This record gives sequence, C-alpha cells and structure tokens, in this order.
Amino acid sequence: MSLSSELFQRAQRTIPGGVNSPVRAFKSVGGEPFFVAKAEGAYLFDVDGKRYIDYIGSWGPMLLGHNHPAIREAVIRAAANGLSFGAPCPAEVTMAEKVAELVPSMQMLRMVSSGTEATMSAIRLARGYTGRDTIVKFEGCYHGHADSLLVKAGSGALTLGVPNSPGVPADFAKYTLTCEFNNLPQIQQLFAEQGNQIACIIVEPVAGNMNCIPPEPGFLEGLRALCDEYGSVLIFDEVMTGFRVALGGAQAYYGVTPDLTTLGKIIGGGMPVGAFGGKKEIMQHLAPLGPVYQAGTLSGNPIAMAAGLAALTEISKPGVYEALTEKTAQLIKGLAQAAAKHAVPVSFNQVGGMFGLFFTNEGRVSNYQQATRCDIDAFKRFFHLMLQQGIYLAPSAYEAGFLSLAHSAEDLKETIAAADYAFSAL
Ligand code: PLP
Repeated sequence: MSLSSELFQRAQRTIPGGVNSPVRAFKSVGGEPFFVAKAEGAYLFDVDGKRYIDYIGSWGPMLLGHNHPAIREAVIRAAANGLSFGAPCPAEVTMAEKVAELVPSMQMLRMVSSGTEATMSAIRLARGYTGRDTIVKFEGCYHGHADSLLVKAGSGALTLGVPNSPGVPADFAKYTLTCEFNNLPQIQQLFAEQGNQIACIIVEPVAGNMNCIPPEPGFLEGLRALCDEYGSVLIFDEVMTGFRVALGGAQAYYGVTPDLTTLGKIIGGGMPVGAFGGKKEIMQHLAPLGPVYQAGTLSGNPIAMAAGLAALTEISKPGVYEALTEKTAQLIKGLAQAAAKHAVPVSFNQVGGMFGLFFTNEGRVSNYQQATRCDIDAFKRFFHLMLQQGIYLAPSAYEAGFLSLAHSAEDLKETIAAADYAFSAL
C-alpha cells in the first residue's frame, strides 16, 4: 500500500472524509487523493516520491510558483520577531497601502484570514450600509461557505433562495436571490420588481467555480448600472481573479469599478489571508468607525502580511502578466491541438492566468447550464489519465485551472504530450 493510501485511511478515522476541505477528497472524480510532502516551483511531490506538474497552485495563490524564495524568506524574517501580536503592526499599514495602490477602488480595506471571511464581511457591510436584507448572487458562483452564500435558486431565477446545505436555515436563505450568470435581462427584471430591497449584488467577475466562464461583453457594466440606479452595492468577489487575470484584478481587466472588492488567495502568497475594501463612504460604516461589526484575532497577522507583501511586490514587477497570459495561451493551444488530433470535442476559456477546459461539443461555454451539460465522465477519465502521467488538474470538472510563472516551456510540453495520450485513450 502506498504511503498516501495509508495516510488517507488514517485520516478518515479522525477527519471527516479524511480532508479539511471537501474537494480534496477526489469524490467527484473517484479514487483517492495523494498526500503532499513538499512543493517547489511548478511541482508537487507526494509522500511516495512522485512528482506532479501542478495546475491548481493551492487553488490559486501560487501565482509565482510554490515555495518562492522571496516569500519564504520574508516569512522567516518576520517569524523571528514573533508570530502574532493582536495589536497593530507596521506591515498591516504597508499592506493596506500596497493593495490600495494596485486596486484603486479599494480606498479603504480591512484584512481578514480567508476568502470566506472577506465575502461574509463585505455582505454584512453592504446590508448595514443600505439598511436592506436581500442580496443577489449568481448560479454557479461560489463565494465561500458563509450561510448567506451557500444558496442557489435552482434553474429558475427570481424564486426565493433554497439552502444548498443542511444547516442553513431556510428563513435565512430566503434573503439570497439567485440569477443566471451572463443573463443581464433576467437580473434587470429582478431589479425592476424588487431593486429597492436589494442590498448588494455579489459576483465573481470571471466565474471560476463552475470551471472558468468569462463575463459576456456588457454583463458587468449592466450590473454596475443596476446598482447605480437602485442604490445597491456592487461587490466583485475577486478572491480568485484578484492579481490573477491582471495586476489590478478583473476590475482593471474589464474596466468596471465595483463599490466593494473581496480578495484572498494570491494576496496571502500562500498564508491564510483575505481582504475586503472599497469606497471610503461605505467602509467608514465598519467598526470601530461605524456600527457594522467585524473583527478577527489573527487579522493582519505579521507573518501573513510579510508573505502577502512579498508576493505582491514580486507580481508587481514588469512583464509578469504578459508572461503568465502567454504561458496559459500556449498551454491551451497545445491542448486544443491534441484534442482535435483525436477528434475529442472540447472547448476552452482563458482570462490571463486562469483557464477552463470543457468536454463539450456546444462550442464556447458562457453559463452554468452549459457547464453542467458537459461530459463529466470524459473529464473524470481524462483527469485520471493525466494524474497517472504526473499532471495534476483540479479533481472536479467545475474548477478553473491555474498556471504559475514557474511553469517552464518544458513543463507545458510535457503536459501537452500527456494530454495527447489521454485524449487518444478516452
Ligand atoms: N470567493 C471565491 C471566488 C472563491 O473562489 C473562494 C474559494 O475558492 C472563496 C471566495 C472562499 O475563499 P476561502 O476558501 O479562502 O474561504
């Protein structure tokens, strides 16, 4: 038995499902997860000594590659001065200034310790600021596991929210309305009916949790216009897209400015960090300035701030996004050619360093319905054929793929050769 298998068996005795976050258990692709011993650059190494080219990058944070020396050294330096103060420290101020410089719509911001905390806090703030309870999200968009956000309305929009998970009270979920991503007329209709009660729209500006689905031209602009007309707060959840699709996030890429932004993943360089922020006028409603409560024992933690600052400093260097976008485009081109060679119908989406691979013959995928119509069985077989060859894709057909700056031309070539075999064997 492999060491990974042994660990998985042991883990299942004391950790529900053997994992600390469900997708890691490989349930949607079958088989067992491998356990990671170390990570370096574009690679993960499992406890049995096998190397994988990694296209998950810790689900997004590893834009610079794993174990980047600048981040590692910043963490070690900071750790020498203590691990947590529970009191203000200089790195928090530098971090806030750096984020505000890179994402100018975040005139004020607050650090938290995860993406979930960021979105949950932004929603509370939007509700407190507007004095309204109802929020709108989009089908297939994931914003972390806070109660308000674990809701989808099924296929019909404009219906009252139904909780996705037991444990979310229906009375609570009814304040979350769900619309179709990229369906502007539908949300316009919803606002025409009840816009005056809507506190906020929260959206992944590029959807990354139903595979990768970019916004159609005019969609984000349309959301902006609705929020302006009805006095609702527009929240861009850039936990995934922030510092990924462009240095200034999706809002810079598409030129649409939200009122509030949530960040996570890359902003911590691998440490548990999130942030939310936006217009001063809204952020001033947050405690201790205003009445909307939000707090965190480890928020602004000195080690996490050191890691985040080092990551943001590295990615601010010239040429980073050009290189990342080019590598991603090269990978997609090679994968598309390999699929075409074996007559496997696939479709790709790409925004900067984020991509999606869909097993479909419908052509371009632009909404949740299309994403869920894809051939999931083909994906599962493809996933395992790639894994056997040392290529680690997300173990779910509904996750985006991520490249890092550490992926070399040789890594891409190896990946495309593996895909050539996998497509031929499907
Ligand atoms: N928002 C988006 C867009 C995400 O992709 C995620 C996580 O994948 C979250 C929020 C939640 O972040 P975390 O897992 O750090 O709580």
